[in-house]
Amino acid sequence: MKLPKLQLHTRILLGLLSGVIFGLLANRLAFSGFLLTYVKPLGAAFIKLISMVVVPLVFASLLVGTASLNDIRKLGRIGSKTLAYYLCTTAVAVTIGLFLANTLKPGVGLSRELRTELIQNGAEQANAKIGTTFKKPTMTDLLLNIVPANPIRAFVEGKMLQIIFFALLTGICLTLIRPDRSRPVISFFEGLNDLMIRMVHIIMKLAPYGVFALISAVVAEFGAGILLALLKYSIVVIAGLMLHVIIVYSSAIRIFSKQKIAAFFRGIRPAQLIAFSSASSSATLPVTMECTEKNLGVSAKICSFALPLGATINMDGTALYQGVSTVFLAQIYGMDLSIAQQLAIVLTATLASVGTAGTPGAGIITLAIVLKSIGVPLEGIAIIMGAERLLDMCRSVVNVTGDASCAVVVASTENEM
Ligand code: ASP
Repeated sequence: MKLPKLQLHTRILLGLLSGVIFGLLANRLAFSGFLLTYVKPLGAAFIKLISMVVVPLVFASLLVGTASLNDIRKLGRIGSKTLAYYLCTTAVAVTIGLFLANTLKPGVGLSRELRTELIQNGAEQANAKIGTTFKKPTMTDLLLNIVPANPIRAFVEGKMLQIIFFALLTGICLTLIRPDRSRPVISFFEGLNDLMIRMVHIIMKLAPYGVFALISAVVAEFGAGILLALLKYSIVVIAGLMLHVIIVYSSAIRIFSKQKIAAFFRGIRPAQLIAFSSASSSATLPVTMECTEKNLGVSAKICSFALPLGATINMDGTALYQGVSTVFLAQIYGMDLSIAQQLAIVLTATLASVGTAGTPGAGIITLAIVLKSIGVPLEGIAIIMGAERLLDMCRSVVNVTGDASCAVVVASTENEM
């Protein structure tokens, strides 16, 4: 099927909608098996294709961006603004989640039987998630983890913070050596950067089909049954996510930039659709970079710094989800949370979201840290497992949107639009 006249995001949207319908049909007409065997791998192939570009693209673009900056102070300023924006918006996201969960009380009134049933249903999946030991990382661990002892290993393992660190340092040092020596290196990476961007363009032509395959598999695999029991909780999470996007990002863009809100959301839509269907902000990164630079007009320098960093540490959607889930589970277990405990949730969920990888389902693993910090039983994770995939898809959209909004805000204040 060729739809040449439609814009990319419209084609992706069509892929998504037809995927939902196809998935529902597969569920109804009992051909889910066929779909999972033959269609699902196509979605996985698409995700692998975009993920393939991430490491070379991030390294090359960040190195070229830093090497052309010529002003270390400016780099420091961009860095501090980006970090401040990420941390503040994440703390606000958790607060919105807590406010909604405390006022709408999704966990009050869930019967004991339903609770037991949900725990039984989700136990296996939950154990698979948190069975692997999770350890609350200390500040020293976090900082030490940024420095790669071996950059090649960082590339091989896709350790984004380490790659960012090495790229920044290489870019800075390139400005400190003789130009006749640095020029060929920079030219090489400029070429690599252009090449990767071209590759993203080509891969994006497949996006409508990739999204179709991803979504139809998700719909066919998960029935709506369990979701109904968790309806109120899911609605609170989704409402919180929408409020955060509408209030926080729109206000930030309105206050700090000249960008039209509608143009922002139109420009970032392809990335949102890919994030929704892949539930991974890391895999979406090349698309987020492309949309933010081409559609929103943010300079390549800011994009190449703020977006890879955001895809690694900025997870507003995840933090909000963790806030709501913690209060929801506390309500189910009849725990009354004090103001101090709620503040502890804001703090731990903000930190836990920083430590969450931008991969599907990573947020539910770090949720354990938040639950533990205020003493909510970890088996509660099994209760919310039924709604996990859908909420993961929704929070990934917010995570990606938050990164792009930061790039727009920082670029506007730095004359880099
Ligand atoms: N899937 C999310 C993301 O990639 C992380 C999470 O599980 O919350 O952004």
